[in-house]
Amino acid sequence: MEMNPLEQALHSARALVMADLVAGDVADAEIVSLVEDAVTHRRWWVEQWPDGAGFVAGLIAQDVQDALLERYGRWPLCPVCEDGPHALDVEPELGPDPQWVCTKAAVRVAPVGGLGGVLRR
Ligand SMILES: [Zn+2]
Repeated sequence: MEMNPLEQALHSARALVMADLVAGDVADAEIVSLVEDAVTHRRWWVEQWPDGAGFVAGLIAQDVQDALLERYGRWPLCPVCEDGPHALDVEPELGPDPQWVCTKAAVRVAPVGGLGGVLRR
């Protein structure tokens, strides 16, 4: 059975965010369940607003980032700035093709799902 476009968008968003968590070495079981919670929440959201299907990767990345901040701390840490560790931001907050950016140095660090190439472990 083929996945419908909404499930496909959620599936790919989940894979991208998981790849970034693995890259940062924070993908333990509890954190994976945070991702599942975010996907479940955004499934509801995108069912209400199917036009937003292209935005779920950026939204799930931010949901997971917020959930991690409460339980684990800032994530993902900026690999660009040497002094004063801070977290990267997702831009656009609500839009397609989400990127991790450092707002301090005003640089694009990697697309969501692409932190594996840039994060220091
Ligand atoms: Zn930075």
